[in-house]
Amino acid sequence: MKILVLPGDGIGPEISAATLQVLEHLNSSRSLGLEFETEQIGLASLAKESTTLPQRVMNRIPKVDGVILGPVSHYDYPPRAEGGINPSGELRTVFKLYANVRPCRSRDDLSILKNPMDLVIVRENTEGFYSDRNMFAGSGEFMPDEDSAFSIRKITARASERVARTAFELAASRKKKVTAVHKANVLKLSDGLFLRQVRKVAQDFPEVELEELIVDAAAAHLIRRPQTFDVLVTTNMFGDILSDEASELSGSLGLGGSLNAGTDIAVAQAQHGSAPDIQGQGIANPTSLILSAAMLLEWHGRRASDPRLIAAATEIESAVEATLEDPGARTRDIGGTCGTEEFSNRVLKHLKTLA
Ligand code: ATP
Ligand code: MG
Repeated sequence: MKILVLPGDGIGPEISAATLQVLEHLNSSRSLGLEFETEQIGLASLAKESTTLPQRVMNRIPKVDGVILGPVSHYDYPPRAEGGINPSGELRTVFKLYANVRPCRSRDDLSILKNPMDLVIVRENTEGFYSDRNMFAGSGEFMPDEDSAFSIRKITARASERVARTAFELAASRKKKVTAVHKANVLKLSDGLFLRQVRKVAQDFPEVELEELIVDAAAAHLIRRPQTFDVLVTTNMFGDILSDEASELSGSLGLGGSLNAGTDIAVAQAQHGSAPDIQGQGIANPTSLILSAAMLLEWHGRRASDPRLIAAATEIESAVEATLEDPGARTRDIGGTCGTEEFSNRVLKHLKTLA
């Protein structure tokens, strides 16, 4: 399996190094046949190549089996033509990474919830408010005069249906419940269409229960009754916000993995951003990116029918869980004093005992 690593900005290089350390260890001890290549994107490539996303990198992506993407910065920089492309949005659109799969679960003393949580948010990843920027003069927003601004929210039957299918397939292998999160009471046409497609897909999965919930209620119910959710499916921006909420409720933004999955390729990406406030200090929690990388191994392992990769993903998850159980191995965001490198060393120790 060929993996392209894009370390990104802020804490990206630190958590990518920790993730690679884990993967490289497994690769040599379990003969996984992983091959890595690394390219710079984001602010590092903006300084050197005047673009946050060099074409050379885009050309490499179809030639690899998966991508590990660190958090990247792009805003507050020159507009698109001068190099300020949002790499993560661009990858999602160009490579049609239509489903952003974000598991969040509570772990005994780390979660701030009263009740247990073990859910997956499946977020539509290519349209909504963050859609096809090219279609609308490069931004998806416009100002007809200097005192009014409009944002375009695009919902299509096709994208809604394919993301709903991902959610139902996932729920069928889990607790058999999908919650469709929407705002169809106000956004009658767009979220009405989204709901219509979810209900249509639901007919193909009679064993899976469908619940419908308005997004503001969903935000509250995540806190009040997290244990009743299994898979939540929603449009782009609602999924973006609810998944931050869910991972923070689980203990920290640094805890939840995330996979951008398309038909041909998947991109592992931490749920959080580049955390510039703690960059370079060696204190970032690498759990999110390590678990995202495990999701990527599993995704490719299933497609390529390679049980070694699926087993490696399970081993990574077990080693991360065992590490998190030890208060002495926790990073600062979850109340510990452990550094990024020390955390990944501890994950390695657990992997060695699993061997
Ligand atoms: P960006 O603009 O790239 O999203 P941000 O300033 O919004 O950057 P986030 O990465 O979204 O920062 O993080 C929000 C807060 O959560 C920050 O205070 C950050 O330090 C913290 N945080 C996020 N990820 C981690 C992590 N992996 N480990 C520790 N703290 C984290
Ligand atoms: Mg952020």
